[in-house]
Amino acid sequence: NELNWSAIKSGLPGWMEDARGIAPLGKVASYIPELSKADPQSLGFHLLSSDGTALSAGDCGRRFTMQSISKVFTLMLALMDIGEERVFSKVGMEPTGDSFNSMLKLELVQPGIPFNPLINAGAIVVSSLIAGSSNEEKSDRIAAFLGRLAGGGPLELDEPTYRSESQSGHLNRSMAYFLTDNGVLESGVEDVLEVYFKHCSLLVDCGQLARMALVLSLDGLDPDSGDRLIPRRYVQIAKTFMVTCGMYNGSGEFAIDVGLPAKSGVSGGILALLPGRAGIGLVGPSLNRHGNSIAGVHLLETLSKEFDWSLF
Ligand code: GLU
Repeated sequence: NELNWSAIKSGLPGWMEDARGIAPLGKVASYIPELSKADPQSLGFHLLSSDGTALSAGDCGRRFTMQSISKVFTLMLALMDIGEERVFSKVGMEPTGDSFNSMLKLELVQPGIPFNPLINAGAIVVSSLIAGSSNEEKSDRIAAFLGRLAGGGPLELDEPTYRSESQSGHLNRSMAYFLTDNGVLESGVEDVLEVYFKHCSLLVDCGQLARMALVLSLDGLDPDSGDRLIPRRYVQIAKTFMVTCGMYNGSGEFAIDVGLPAKSGVSGGILALLPGRAGIGLVGPSLNRHGNSIAGVHLLETLSKEFDWSLF
């Protein structure tokens, strides 16, 4: 069960170089204007094992916004706040086969609830289920929860990205109105979107992402104190969604080629985990046609094949 650290260490620089080499084949997300400023060639990687051994490579210190990766965690927080039955009366459990920001099935499928919590419509609904008496309290609770999993205080908000996304988020806004009309979203559209856009704009580095992944790989236990941070059942739910829809419409291919629970975001971050063994955080802003970091997926594929990491 031990990771082969010496082989990982000696191979990593070359594999990082190979992965960087294909970054020009992808594209940095530009629909949120602030994200388009990221360097397409940058690549950061951090591996943290359950015994505390860590390895980082590349642009690891650079911070980036969590974007969709945060959706895994707001889901678990909502489950902790109001329980499984209430959460899944508002959002489904199935992959869509549509893009992450698609509205298509909101109209087509009754009773009009989003297919799963990792597409935008589903994550917006989840944001509305977070406990708190004000938007600020909800956002503070999310930032504190994520920060605790990352091993410290509350995560910091990237104001420019939040503003950029709020100003350009017409599609998310229309989805929220649609969900309100369907009776799925009960609080006001702007209130819910503030919470949603803010958790997408929380800043992390690869090391923090790897630690959050490690908590999931330990089924919700804090790797340092052994405290239970998340009920095991909710981590199991989150990890299952990561396998079935964590990598957008590339989830099937990723399950075949890498075979680990993972979640990506449009800023190029990927959180992945080796159950019981390690957490991985990486970032490479150039995205493939599915919206996943092109260099990041390539690197994970190489590592998984080299060390037989696939769960399947
Ligand atoms: N905040 C982004 C959006 O709502 C998240 C998208 C993503 O990372 O997939 O469009």
